[in-house]
Amino acid sequence: MAHENVSELVQQAAEHAVAYLKTVDDRPVMARASFDDMVAAFGGPVPEGPTDPAEVIDRMAVSAEPGLTAMGSGRFFGFVIGGSVPAAQAADVLVGAWEQNVGSNDYTPAVSAMEYVAGRWVLELLGLPSAASVGWVTGGMMANFTGLATGRLNVLAQHGWDVNAQGLQGAPDVYVVVGDERHTTIDLALNFLGLGAGRSHQVPTDEHGVMTVNALRSVLESVPRGAPLIVCLAAGNVNTGAFDPMGACIDVAHDFGAWVHVDGAFGLWAGASSDLRHLVEGVERADSWATDAHKWLNVPYDCGIAITAHQDAHRVAMYSRASYVPMGHAAIPDPSELVPEFSRRARGVPSWAAIASLGRSGVAELVERCCAHARAFAEALGEVDGIDVLNDVVLNQVLVRFGDSDDITRQVTGAIPADGTMLMSGTTFKGRAALRISVCNWRTTDDDVQRCVDVLARLFSEART
Ligand SMILES: *Cc1c(COP(=O)(O)O)cnc(C)c1O
Repeated sequence: MAHENVSELVQQAAEHAVAYLKTVDDRPVMARASFDDMVAAFGGPVPEGPTDPAEVIDRMAVSAEPGLTAMGSGRFFGFVIGGSVPAAQAADVLVGAWEQNVGSNDYTPAVSAMEYVAGRWVLELLGLPSAASVGWVTGGMMANFTGLATGRLNVLAQHGWDVNAQGLQGAPDVYVVVGDERHTTIDLALNFLGLGAGRSHQVPTDEHGVMTVNALRSVLESVPRGAPLIVCLAAGNVNTGAFDPMGACIDVAHDFGAWVHVDGAFGLWAGASSDLRHLVEGVERADSWATDAHKWLNVPYDCGIAITAHQDAHRVAMYSRASYVPMGHAAIPDPSELVPEFSRRARGVPSWAAIASLGRSGVAELVERCCAHARAFAEALGEVDGIDVLNDVVLNQVLVRFGDSDDITRQVTGAIPADGTMLMSGTTFKGRAALRISVCNWRTTDDDVQRCVDVLARLFSEART
């Protein structure tokens, strides 16, 4: 295959990409084709021999079209899915072309430096300690894993136990305290770390889905004093958007000798706005933090950020020695010293581009605008007879209930994908069905919000009759 074909092919793929991006504002948000349709379109036996790559790219673009859900649409409000701001979207194209396996500052200086600088920028924007260590991981899940792995290493080291050398068998018991509304990835991370999610001690949360300082204190009093201890706090409940009271909880947990990890996959971005910063007051006193750039910084998947206030422990927890890779001695860690992955793409680069293009005011504005849209949803829906907003809309999340039964709420939720105007997912909050609206995309406009409110009102009246 001739080398010169590569540039033509990349051009061809870019044209397909541009054509798709032009449809994002208007296409039905939910994919029209099913998984089975797509397996049929892409399947068949392994091709016996080569096919012209240009044909492969065309076939890919054409076949995928009906099976694409417009997750980048300004009317996609499911889960917590950010779009991609233009600079980040375009930067991702370069990340692919550059083919850098970002592991070492010496071997991949350009992308290592961009990730390093982007990490410093993120700390500054979020109001976290400027000396913190930053690892670019796949998402919030691995950011939680990295923070908790560092915590596990640290609390055991304080009891004279080297978990890297000795493992967990025979180690002092590690106590983990979590809120009963924690994100499921905290449990996954605890399982991966051999800490057993089922063994964690749960703090009951209040009607906003967050813990009070007193509730936390009483659980802390129930674990053996002086034992290795990790406390996980939530900056942004995944349903309500509410925050565990950060500073006060961190201080109490520290009084008990705990390592404090904060899951702030989307909520930590409140720190980027002077209007919202009060929600994370004191968060900078924690020991580790997990957040996602692919959520509220609006960069392409996948991009999570693992941050710790203990660079040496972070480095020891994640550092893998390979005799053929010279690294791990510099004052500034190599990128691979701070993440579980060994080889990986330069996923922090689009974050550099996003922050370079938005600036401090642009990031703040992105976050504030999403919150304003969430409040607009709550106000407009709250005015519709029979629709209730279940949460205080302190951030970007809105929980809505239709009529007075779970059934009607589920019926409205179930009718959304086929309507195609938007996507929102259902949830259960404190035992009741709700529709969950998560606003997390730079593309969302006032008009999008109004259109979606109108459709929801219509789907509700259809469900009632
Ligand atoms: C999304 C989310 C996670 C998981 O992040 P991924 O990027 O999906 O791995 C963890 N915690 C919270 C609060 C989240 O919203």
